[in-house]
This record gives sequence, structure tokens and C-alpha cells, in this order.
Amino acid sequence: MNYANIKYFDIANGEGVRTSLFVSGCRRHCKGCFNAVTWDFLFGKPFDKEIEDKIIESCKDPNIAGLTLLGGDPFEPENQRGLINLIRRFKTECSGKNLWAYSGYLFDVDMIPGGMVYTEVTDEMLKAIDVLVDGRFELDLKDISLRFRGSSNQRIIDLKKSLVANRTIVIDRLMEREKID
Ligand code: SF4
Repeated sequence: MNYANIKYFDIANGEGVRTSLFVSGCRRHCKGCFNAVTWDFLFGKPFDKEIEDKIIESCKDPNIAGLTLLGGDPFEPENQRGLINLIRRFKTECSGKNLWAYSGYLFDVDMIPGGMVYTEVTDEMLKAIDVLVDGRFELDLKDISLRFRGSSNQRIIDLKKSLVANRTIVIDRLMEREKID
């Protein structure tokens, strides 16, 4: 797996101050994508142990709320396999921190058995992630007033609650605005 960028002390991609990892590779090709250079799986640099260590260390900082995975698309099958070790380490070494992920694929369609990006590690990834922002970027539904997502079709999903309830639980839009504005 290659990665395009890492933002330390990022405040745009999830609640609180975070480390954000932008992986390379996305087959969704949404019109108006904010980061089209990352569609190429070979863009950027190889993701190696050294950079994994650096990300884990950054997340241990008491000022950091957690880690965000985006791209590109972390749920492309190659990227799931490239990220699973980092995710396992994050869960064991960064207790108390939360994990967010972004994907152009849909949680309850593409990430279930038989779905377009379901792999042998998808369930483990989903169990580890606290909040998933899913869905393609739709240019016609672009809304710059939204926090944490680019278009209104995209959902901010509470994955922990969703997996327990066995249904998709979207963080309430009104609550979201009250909390953020
Ligand atoms: S899923 Fe995300 S990275 Fe991929 S094309 Fe759509 S907006 Fe761009």
C-alpha cells in the first residue's frame, strides 16, 4: 500500500485534534473528488513500519483525540490489507483514542459479505472503527456548511452502535449541528 499524505494535528477530518492518514488508491472516481491525485494506487510513498511507528507515536500525544483513515479509499481491498496491522496496533497501543474512517463505499451494501469491497479483514476493521463517513461524493449535493463530509448524501455512522443494533445508525444531523456550531 502507498500513502499520499499524513496530517498531524488535523482538525478537519473528525472530532478533536487528530492524526489523519491519506492512503493511495480509489476506484470510485467521484466527479469533483477533493483528492483525485490519490486515485492512483501507486501515488505517494510506500507505507512501511517506520511510518506506522510514527503514526502510532503521534496518536499517543495526550492532545490527540484519535486517528482518521481516508484517501483515496481505505476500504479498497488492497488498502484494507495494508491498514489492518496499523489498526490492530492502534487498538492495543492507543487505548482511549477513537478511530474514524472515510469511504466512498457503503457500509450496509458494499462492506457486508458478498459486497463489492468485503474481504477477510473487513469485519475486523469495522469492529475497530468508531465513526465511518460513507458514500460517494456527489457534486450536485455538495454543501460546504456540512462538517466532516462534502455532500449531503454522505452519512456519519456510529459504527459501534450500528454493529450492536445490527442496523445502520447515523449520528443525528440536528445533534451534529448543535454539537458543532
Ligand atoms: S471515494 Fe473519496 S477519494 Fe474516492 S473518488 Fe470519491 S471523493 Fe474521491
